[in-house]
Amino acid sequence: MNYQFSTRVPKTNEDPVGNILKVAGSSDVISFAGGLPAPELFPVEALKKVTNEVYDQEGRSALQYSIAAGYPKLREQIVARMAQSGINTTVDNVMISTGSQQSIDLTAKMFINPGDTVIVEQPTYLCALDVFRSYGANLVGVEMDDDGMKMMALETALQAHPNTKFIYTIPSFQNPTGRTMSVARRQKVIELAEKYDVIILEDDPYGAIRFAGTAVAPIKHFDQSGRVIYMSTFSKILAPGMRLGWIVADTALIKKFTLMKQSADVHSDNLTQHIVARFMAEYDIDAHIQKIQSVYGQRERVMVAAMAEHFPASVHYSRPEGGLFIWVEIPGNIDTQALFETCIAHNVAFVPGDPFYPNAATPGTFRLNYSTMAEDQIKIGIERLGTAIKETMAN
Ligand code: PMP
Repeated sequence: MNYQFSTRVPKTNEDPVGNILKVAGSSDVISFAGGLPAPELFPVEALKKVTNEVYDQEGRSALQYSIAAGYPKLREQIVARMAQSGINTTVDNVMISTGSQQSIDLTAKMFINPGDTVIVEQPTYLCALDVFRSYGANLVGVEMDDDGMKMMALETALQAHPNTKFIYTIPSFQNPTGRTMSVARRQKVIELAEKYDVIILEDDPYGAIRFAGTAVAPIKHFDQSGRVIYMSTFSKILAPGMRLGWIVADTALIKKFTLMKQSADVHSDNLTQHIVARFMAEYDIDAHIQKIQSVYGQRERVMVAAMAEHFPASVHYSRPEGGLFIWVEIPGNIDTQALFETCIAHNVAFVPGDPFYPNAATPGTFRLNYSTMAEDQIKIGIERLGTAIKETMAN
């Protein structure tokens, strides 16, 4: 059968990242290729207890259909959490989503007509790139440095692409680089969005996982005119399998998001929303997040110390103050795929930088993840990686 797919459907069945994860998943390989939260930190017993309570005390309503905007109690709790991070908002400005991935998809569906420009950090979250491509976006990448997106390059991109619909940014502990946008740039990005009349999509799954440095307010904090759509998720602060995230935006946008969510999946799992709301009512989620910060912070420090010991001095790597990732840049024209293969021969793996770039990739770049690995494994893996880098650089 010759299926007549729409233009939204990927042309090939190739899954380069899936293939990397498969190779990286073999038992002898120490893999820094994943991006998962540490499962030993999931509060399984507490969630079991509150789940039973939900069934016992509110089973009938939790198992019923509900409203697309989400469980009001959970939205109130999110409003309170947002206030702690510098976003003053109301329940009417919050919609629950089935994870940030859905928030990204709904935003893209809402704004992108084929050919519209979306400006992204370069590199950026590859699954967001896939979504934007599926709606026919023209992707324009903006270079970054250790303070995030470069503002002069952003303005040049805005001038060159008057059909820009939105700027997509992950300002805190970015995936894949671990970098954080400075406060000055957060204010500047709003100023530029005002000047060129575009929207900002602020994707913030990692902001709460800060283990070093001082807190920086989200871009949404500086938003006076309702042009920032903020999104976050329970995936990194509680459990990704629960598939719950949220959007904070102007009420006019939340009304549209709600209609579009209704068409997509009616509403996010009502039972899970009740479980998370009860978990937050009965347990201290901030204390839980502190545990995550402390474990990831320790693993990051071990990884960076091992890199300082085993990597050639000319190799550059980011120093994240939170989140899950470190970005490595090897100078010169290193073939990242050849490096990957040398690493596999040494039983260590990473994700090559290529899929994170909207267009041409910078050679010799890759992402490392430290959230799921024991410290001794990190030390051994980074030593192997250092050997593989030295071999590849010598060739
Ligand atoms: N945005 C970014 C930057 C991410 O890294 C991820 C998950 N890895 C997501 C969104 C999707 O998260 P969720 O589980 O909430 O769908």
